[in-house]
Amino acid sequence: MQTKLLINGRLVDGEGTCQPVYNPSLGTVLVDIAEASTRQVEAAVLAADQAFEGWAQTPPKDRAQLLLKLADRIEEQAQTLARLESLNCGKPYQAALNDEIPAIADVFRFFAGASRCMSGSAGGEYLPGHTSMIRRDPLGVVASIAPWNYPLMMVAWKLAPALAAGNCVVLKPSEQTPLSALKLAEIIAELFPAGVVNILFGRGPSVGEPLVTHPKVRLVSLTGSVATGARIIGATASSVKRTHMELGGKAPVLIFNDADIDAAVEGIRAFGFYNAGQDCTAACRLYVQEGVYAQFVEKLGIAVASIRHGLQDDPDTELGPLITRDHLERVAGFVERAKAQPHIRVITGGNRVEGPGFFFEPTVLADARQDDEIVQREVFGPVVTITSFTDEAQALAYANDSDYGLASSVWTQDVGRANRLASRLQYGCTWVNTHFMLVSEMPHGGMKHSGYGKDMSMYGLEDYTCVRHVMFKH
Ligand code: NAD
Repeated sequence: MQTKLLINGRLVDGEGTCQPVYNPSLGTVLVDIAEASTRQVEAAVLAADQAFEGWAQTPPKDRAQLLLKLADRIEEQAQTLARLESLNCGKPYQAALNDEIPAIADVFRFFAGASRCMSGSAGGEYLPGHTSMIRRDPLGVVASIAPWNYPLMMVAWKLAPALAAGNCVVLKPSEQTPLSALKLAEIIAELFPAGVVNILFGRGPSVGEPLVTHPKVRLVSLTGSVATGARIIGATASSVKRTHMELGGKAPVLIFNDADIDAAVEGIRAFGFYNAGQDCTAACRLYVQEGVYAQFVEKLGIAVASIRHGLQDDPDTELGPLITRDHLERVAGFVERAKAQPHIRVITGGNRVEGPGFFFEPTVLADARQDDEIVQREVFGPVVTITSFTDEAQALAYANDSDYGLASSVWTQDVGRANRLASRLQYGCTWVNTHFMLVSEMPHGGMKHSGYGKDMSMYGLEDYTCVRHVMFKH
């Protein structure tokens, strides 16, 4: 197992304290890894800073070549990477191999092409005797901080646009799930010039904080919780760093009387419980119109009760464990408090699964009210709530009554209604008659407390650049 950090082109052992990395399906320690020391954080940032001039001046087609090679190597090593990801997260191996790895390779390929297609306003003579042009230039050293739910995918979302735009990166994966990123470090060390990519291991306070507050870091890109986002924004305010924030979510799902109910049930079974619901876009906050409410609750209960949980190598496993014992306690706490409310009905699930792993039953809670904690807060587990609504106005009001603003969906056969709602929902994404689907060409990112960075798409690339004006006097 590759457990070394990548600093200035070399794979080196961490010099900090050792941290255990778990297999959440069994609750056992897979390996202990030494964190980066403060000295190593400093060395990584300085290496990135020194590499910046050369990388920024490397023609886009040459940067693209390396990103394409990286995508090829990811595909060549698909099984190894998927195996590490499923071991470290408890994800079903087949899902890691067949869903995640192809999407990860595609992100690198998209940004390889995108780096050669930057566009903007036309240059021109806006002052007589002068010609103006716009440039989009890289920023310098980017500190990228990733979460644990899709470890390698988040690495791809962070590295690909930053590198394509000509920045150098110091990346810190989650201390809970570093294994696939450290394996990628081995591949990157062979392909990229020293210092262009540096990958550290460690916790937020010991490694993340010295990294994001380092004076030579120009942009901090975080995918993580709202609390961590707010903390990083505060810690970087005095040095006026740019920040790129992809934070939590609590996606509303609006299901109308005229929706294809079977398709909606199938959609929620898939998109509310994928990755054990540990997904910032998970279809978890369901609003169902009165006319189909009883039918929908019954059908969803039956569908969700059929979701099979189990170990990652069992081909029948659909649902893995939660990531840590602490997170299991957190999810169980939300559900216990919800169950204590007399108006909430447990349709299926509602309990942790006995055993050494961190499993929680796929859970459907009906008759939840808008101001219930379980409706308002991000649970980040295999738990969905259902609340009934009378009409479109109430559905919209419920949906927008949230601190979060990442993803939403509308299920209806009425195109006019779908368009009306799509224009009023305060979410970075609205799907119609589906949920959860992402493509490299389209932006992913939030509003409100869900943050303001865009991942993927040309907007993601632009987020890693600075718009500059150059003017020539004739
Ligand atoms: P987290 O905020 O606890 O940790 C995220 C990362 O931040 C980790 O690498 C952690 O070590 C680091 N970190 C923590 N404190 C830090 C500090 N003070 N300075 C620097 N780094 C620090 O989040 P998590 O539990 O790993 O991930 C789950 C959260 O991520 C959920 O809220 C989820 O919604 C969100 N998420 C959002 C998206 C999105 O695209 N918007 C995608 C995936 C996950």
